[in-house]
Amino acid sequence: MEKKNIYGISLEELEQEMLALGQKAYRAKQLFSWLYVKNAKSFDEMSDISIKFREVLKERYTMDLPEVFIKRVSNDGTIKLLLKMFDGEKIETVLMPYNYGNATCISTQVGCNMNCFFCASGLLKKKRDLTTEEMVGQVLVLNKMLSEMIDGKPVTHIVVMGTGEPFDNYDNVMRFVRIVNSQFGLAIGARHITVSTSGVIPGILRYGKEGLQINLAISLHAPNNELRNKLMPINRKYPLEQLMEAVIQYGKDSNDRRVTYEYIMIEDFNDSMECCDQLIELIKPTYGYVNLIPYNNVVENRYKRSSNNRIHRFHDKLMKSGIKTTIRKEFGADIEAACGQLRAKYAENN
Ligand code: SAH
Repeated sequence: MEKKNIYGISLEELEQEMLALGQKAYRAKQLFSWLYVKNAKSFDEMSDISIKFREVLKERYTMDLPEVFIKRVSNDGTIKLLLKMFDGEKIETVLMPYNYGNATCISTQVGCNMNCFFCASGLLKKKRDLTTEEMVGQVLVLNKMLSEMIDGKPVTHIVVMGTGEPFDNYDNVMRFVRIVNSQFGLAIGARHITVSTSGVIPGILRYGKEGLQINLAISLHAPNNELRNKLMPINRKYPLEQLMEAVIQYGKDSNDRRVTYEYIMIEDFNDSMECCDQLIELIKPTYGYVNLIPYNNVVENRYKRSSNNRIHRFHDKLMKSGIKTTIRKEFGADIEAACGQLRAKYAENN
């Protein structure tokens, strides 16, 4: 029998497995507590479980975590990890120390197939989806690191915005969300979890019906199809009109959860006042927020970042129109912390 990695199993699934092993369902909660609250490193530490049953667990499950392959710490406290998975594939995870808590940016695939023109992650094609345990593992490896630091507090916020398209790996991502959100596990509040999509409509519609209070972010980046087609090939499959309809449906299904639109600021491409007017028109019916992202020039000078002036002008106009808008704080500029940069660089040199 092949062993399963226990970090890839949700509480509900583990309860079923315990029942099948002739145990009471509460064993699963006990295990979750050892795994996620007491941070046990082996089954042997689980002292309120009989030695005999610990042996049964060891025969069935592993507690393996990804290995830290490269670790970079920025002057601003950002930690960027290149993690080695069980088959040797390498993926990125980032920890961003906000004043409100520690946010981690999780990858969902090895490489990405969305081909967004501005993004370093897509420089390496998708090799495979990440498993649930590989996503949970990203959080646990960071938590372990944080627990060894003076004043280190555990991860409090999760953004599923690393390499990969989460809705192209829907089931594993949702199981991951349920595990980190579980009150018997890491207990990261649903409102502190955000999943970001490039606009995969079937995923958005499914997500709205999950009955969770988790957040949705949409990588919009352009206010009309002509510009968006130039940036994101997915817009040809799911153009803006359909995307906006899906967002409205998501709002209805999710009890009016608001979405956040991510909008990369690229000079003389999508940062004019005319673009801003179009953006306002486009998203007004959906009551979303906007997060303006200063573009990181990671792909061979294809585009240039908008000046701070232009970013603020855009921001102010959106705010005046009644759309709540933030400008993304930047982290880890000194350690290649932006999307996909570290992994792409590593692949280039090896
Ligand atoms: N596939 C998902 C999640 C990964 S991308 C999605 O598209 O949303 C996460 C965010 O990082 C997206 O908003 C993406 O557009 C942004 N991003 C990618 N490359 C960037 C760059 N060079 N500069 C700034 N933001 C970037």
